Amino acid sequence: MKTIMVDMDDVLTYGNFSEILENYLGYIPDYDNIKHYYIQDILGEKKNDFFNKFKDMNMYDNATLLPNCYDVLKELSKYYKIYICTDYIWQEIIAYAGNNLKNKYDFLFQQLDFISPKNFIFAADKSIINCDIKIDDKISNIEGAKIKLLFTAWHNKEVAKEELDKQNIIRVNNWEDIKKILLENKEKKERCKG
Ligand SMILES: [Mg+2]
Repeated sequence: MKTIMVDMDDVLTYGNFSEILENYLGYIPDYDNIKHYYIQDILGEKKNDFFNKFKDMNMYDNATLLPNCYDVLKELSKYYKIYICTDYIWQEIIAYAGNNLKNKYDFLFQQLDFISPKNFIFAADKSIINCDIKIDDKISNIEGAKIKLLFTAWHNKEVAKEELDKQNIIRVNNWEDIKKILLENKEKKERCKG
């Protein structure tokens, strides 16, 4: 069975980090014009104060999976071995990153009841993971895979198709796109067998 590494943040769920940030700032930032990978980089000198409050919050409280994510993943799990691989390190408050790890574990455990927790991988350096297919919103995290799917996010949406083509990367905008790429042939074969 081929293996798939699936990222968590901005692929499985958006969490509620944006809401927490907006509540703190008191306004909605212009997300379309944020070029940083980490949205919190817009905080400037308020960063320490923000993280001091943020360290005890759960980014996944009431968070939901992205549309179609559950069904597509469940269908994928019939044909592929699925590993969820997510970075939990909070660079700004590294001593408290264990809180994030627990919150992530709880979210995955509760939301993805068909994936064994043994397949949850908590790692900042995803290059050590040797999976056939990698799905992530960060280009450096999908390097080395045979099939590389880049999930569209605010920080990668301007990477041109030619640039992605050069690196053999396929852009996906949602879970329906992932389904088309990874499942359509499988399901056709299944129907032929039947
Ligand atoms: Mg991500």
